Amino acid sequence: MEAPHPIADRHAAPRVARGRWWQWPAPCGVCATWTRPAGLCADCLRRFAPPVPRCRRCAIRVPGGVQVCGSCLHDPPRFERAVAAFDYAFPWDRVIAAFKFRDGLEWAAPLAWQLAAATAADAAEVDLVTAVPLADARLRERGYNQAWEIAHRAARTHRLPARHDLLQRLRDTPRQMQLDKRQRDANLRGAFMPGDAAARRAVHGRHVALVDDVLTTGTTAGEATRALLEAGARSVQLWVLARTARKAG
Ligand SMILES: [Zn+2]
Ligand SMILES: [Zn+2]
Repeated sequence: MEAPHPIADRHAAPRVARGRWWQWPAPCGVCATWTRPAGLCADCLRRFAPPVPRCRRCAIRVPGGVQVCGSCLHDPPRFERAVAAFDYAFPWDRVIAAFKFRDGLEWAAPLAWQLAAATAADAAEVDLVTAVPLADARLRERGYNQAWEIAHRAARTHRLPARHDLLQRLRDTPRQMQLDKRQRDANLRGAFMPGDAAARRAVHGRHVALVDDVLTTGTTAGEATRALLEAGARSVQLWVLARTARKAG
């Protein structure tokens, strides 16, 4: 997969065309080869992010020709469909960790391009883009919500509006992966609420794309989807950077 063109209108405004570090050659974040636009080189994308068949509902890898995985046929998620740019495996696990935990905001633009490329066909069915919010304490600690940093950039590439206030996260849910499905569900119930009256008006009747960094069990995204549907969203698609291989529960 070729890296998508950074921003469609990069020559439209001098303010945009000048001074964006990622339009200049820089080492690929995976292999360190000099590349342009900066971030990820075409060779690494071909090698580590080849297009693969994925379940339409949960983005897990499926054999060619399969539309929906057995797990989703049996117990479909609340979100209408899910799209993932990568598998959650080398090198993307490291890239996403650097982006989230090491003050790695420079990763936001190249990762958002990859998400925009992966969702090119789906964006036509979306009216509004949002992100899974962080709880306030986590946001203060990190300084940014990695999902929102991806969401608003991907939305701009698709020329879609984006809002970060459609959902409120009432509490954080650490170590979610160590819990079984019943515990996860209990832990997350009521973790998200629709935003204020203006946010509810914005979401009402809309087809929403909900962005997150990694999709593992789908419990968090499912709860966030529930809150968006409660607020009146017509449908919710889930767009994630990376999908874990094993669906636990
Ligand atoms: Zn590379
Ligand atoms: Zn599935």
